[in-house]
Amino acid sequence: MPERIKHQPLDSGKVKPPQAEIHLIKDQCKGCGFCIQFCPKKVLEESQEINARGVHPPKIVDENKCIICSFCTAVCPDFAIFVTEKSREKDVK
Ligand code: SF4
Ligand code: SF4
Repeated sequence: MPERIKHQPLDSGKVKPPQAEIHLIKDQCKGCGFCIQFCPKKVLEESQEINARGVHPPKIVDENKCIICSFCTAVCPDFAIFVTEKSREKDVK
């Protein structure tokens, strides 16, 4: 932790980090692997299944590790992946 941040935020126990929901349109994927390569959290990997285009789309390894940075969406040339935040109960009680 950097020197100037010595304490946790006061409400850190009450506020939950956002949960990602990854949407993969498998049959639109061309199997380039850019999303897998650029994901900073290694959330995706190549699957063994074959889609309508005859390639291996990615599969989600651990959605909980996703930080909703949207790099995967930015690099996907075929608009086959996007990420939203899961709806949840009010954070602060
Ligand atoms: S939003 Fe970021 S962390 Fe989540 S799967 Fe895409 S590239 Fe990975
Ligand atoms: S970047 Fe898009 S087209 Fe390429 S493997 Fe990922 S989802 Fe498929």
